[in-house]
Amino acid sequence: MGSHFEALLRGMKAGAGEALREGAKPPSFAPSAWFLGPNGENAAHMQRLLGIALDDHVAARRDYFPTDPDSAADDVETEEARAISCAAMEENLRLLTTALRGSIPVASHRNTSHMYWDITMPSVAGYLATMLFNQNNVAAEGSPVTTQLEIQVGEEMAAMLGYDLKADVRPWGHITCDGSVANLEAAWAARNVKYVAPAMARALREEPSLAPARHVTLRQPNGRWARLLDLDPWTLLNIGVDDAVGLRARVIDTGVAPEDVDAALARWSLRAMGLAGFHAEVLHGVKSPVILVPATAHYSWAKAAGLLGLGQRALLRIPVDLDGRMSLPDLRRTLEQCLTEARPVALVVAVMGSTQESAVDPLVQIAAMRDEFADRGLTFALHADAAWGGYFAALIRGAPPGPPPGERFGFDHAPAETLNPHVRAQFEALPQTDSITLDPHKAGYAPYPAGGLCYRNAEMRWLVAEMAPVVYHGGRVPSIGVFGVEGSKPGAAAAGVWLNHRTIATDVSGYGRLLGRCLFNAKRFAAAVSTLAGPEDLFAVTPFQRLPAEREGGTPAQIAAQRAVVADRIVGYSNAALMEAMAKDPSLKTLFQGIGPDLTVFAYAFNLRRGGALNRDLSLMNALNDAVFHRLSIETSEQRGEVPTQPMIITASSFSPDDYGQPFVDAFAARAGVANPPGASVRFLISTIENPFLSETAEGNFIPTLAEVLRATVLDARKEILAIHGLAD
Ligand SMILES: *Cc1c(COP(=O)(O)O)cnc(C)c1O
Repeated sequence: MGSHFEALLRGMKAGAGEALREGAKPPSFAPSAWFLGPNGENAAHMQRLLGIALDDHVAARRDYFPTDPDSAADDVETEEARAISCAAMEENLRLLTTALRGSIPVASHRNTSHMYWDITMPSVAGYLATMLFNQNNVAAEGSPVTTQLEIQVGEEMAAMLGYDLKADVRPWGHITCDGSVANLEAAWAARNVKYVAPAMARALREEPSLAPARHVTLRQPNGRWARLLDLDPWTLLNIGVDDAVGLRARVIDTGVAPEDVDAALARWSLRAMGLAGFHAEVLHGVKSPVILVPATAHYSWAKAAGLLGLGQRALLRIPVDLDGRMSLPDLRRTLEQCLTEARPVALVVAVMGSTQESAVDPLVQIAAMRDEFADRGLTFALHADAAWGGYFAALIRGAPPGPPPGERFGFDHAPAETLNPHVRAQFEALPQTDSITLDPHKAGYAPYPAGGLCYRNAEMRWLVAEMAPVVYHGGRVPSIGVFGVEGSKPGAAAAGVWLNHRTIATDVSGYGRLLGRCLFNAKRFAAAVSTLAGPEDLFAVTPFQRLPAEREGGTPAQIAAQRAVVADRIVGYSNAALMEAMAKDPSLKTLFQGIGPDLTVFAYAFNLRRGGALNRDLSLMNALNDAVFHRLSIETSEQRGEVPTQPMIITASSFSPDDYGQPFVDAFAARAGVANPPGASVRFLISTIENPFLSETAEGNFIPTLAEVLRATVLDARKEILAIHGLAD
């Protein structure tokens, strides 16, 4: 089913789309020009961009058969009716824009809540310009321009993540509506990979038309070749990804007609038979596959396990260490168990920036373990869930020589200063994965909906393709909408991302520097919040991300000493002074690199002190954090046009033993000073720093303002909690 289509795809690549690629101005570096700004300070430029979008769109409408008539004649009655209609539209629009004032002020310096900050002007202008054309990327026929934009963006994402566009095994990427659907597609493809070889073996046995291929050989997980029909079901289920997706072509190479292979697979395949049917008729008694995820996994993986018919019990959660990173001994134990029990593993997921802590899993060692288990006959696809972290890969991608146009070295620093060595090493390993999720609508600063999925081996996408005749004409142009879950999807989303990539290079000179600033700011924010309370204060703060001294098992005195260094030499300094101090003192630089989150999501919990002693009651501590969250979040709006009054926006979550395991939760509770009853969850707060300007606004560092807000809020919440519980101060 794929070859004809594939040839078309290759054919078009050299043709159209080149004008878009080559006509573009090179990216520049001036982040304050990229955003509308917290005060809308770039409104004039936004107006120009949106004016161009509308004017050029109207010109395109006029140029298409200019003598065609307008929608209706200009007689008096319709003129009047139109005026009424227009006035009503305007009034209703005002009703909407007035109500919208109650929204989360995402572009404010005070917003640290979810995985977003402001969206860029190019992504908005690109989106709106394209939205006026309302192209549907489900089929190239509905989107002759924007399909090409999506193909280009797919390549740019793949290259940024480290997949090699020039390798023999070519990558492929596309825009999905979000990271959840990208994860679902990756799991879908990985599950289907497992069943390719068993299906082909059955088809070869059953279908006379495939007789010439009965001697076809296949590489086993241990690297040795064998005749496909000699392999047992377990081995067939453990054929490597590249060998599995290449099997159809090997069968065709023996002289079987492609139509015959496809007709046979239409009878004998997972796609045709479904999971239950396939196991009943082809794989009697073989267990159905599992997916391994870290305890921090996003809830989309539970949806995927359900949708794919595996069931949520097939989602095996691997515990994480105290940094929130997948525990390697536990991963090994689970893989050993799967091997012993002959339980197929469809997918192992490494999270590159967990949703609640931005923890980066040890991908280097996970990939090594993958190779080791393949030698022993257990294979699986390896997926990186970099929905949040994907764009941070730009930090390790080299830029073309020379500074980007407009470069001015004011507040800046080499991104190398911000990336901790663990994170860098794991991002270097991204090319070892089979697929990667990344969200342009998160750290790519694009408007929703824009998620993304890249496969290392483009052939994998055929395992989730559905060639509806109305979408796929088997003809002239490639439709990329046939690969995946979605149907109709906005070409505008791809265009927004495309224009973003033309403005902000997908390497260290663009997104690398932009997100490098965010990492820098996240460290400064972590430093400020971690040192918010003195030793004898009315409250204490426990950052989830421990200071290096604590991580390394230092004594309480050593940890306190390091906290004092952070307070004295990092928190109080301006960026310039800090950069200068770090240049002079490498130990300060190492300390700075070692503090804060892996990737800009800082998690922390407050506890209260009474009569000089730290509270030991978990429910009281949880109540305090809830009260802080309540004061610094917006759940409902009166929709009367008032903008929010919350002086800062954060979010909250819980560490629950069900998800994270009791030892993890116990350790965090102990650090916070509370004894927690088994099974109880610990509430905590989250600040995501996606604001590149936070420590260097037009009026200097804004972090002290936020620290002061947090401090005042905790003190206020503490009073309330003590009063509710009738406790003395
Ligand atoms: C946000 C996120 C997702 C889901 O992405 P959506 O775009 O919100 O659907 C998946 N995985 C991780 C790690 C995430 O942070």
